[in-house]
Amino acid sequence: MGKNTNIKNRKTIICIRCGKELKDGFYNSPEGIFCPSCWEEKPQEERERLYNDAIKNIAGFIKGK
Ligand SMILES: [Zn+2]
Repeated sequence: MGKNTNIKNRKTIICIRCGKELKDGFYNSPEGIFCPSCWEEKPQEERERLYNDAIKNIAGFIKGK
């Protein structure tokens, strides 16, 4: 009693580009999950496109059924 068991349920989130484990903060784009530095390397144009896709997906999700 009083002993903490290790919680191993936490999923590891990995950047799809550099494979780095993401502990604080990440970008969940329609292409996959990016760490902030990989995300920032992307051209602004592409980020905006992915961002808009994400919004469309969410809108579609809410709208559907
Ligand atoms: Zn990365």
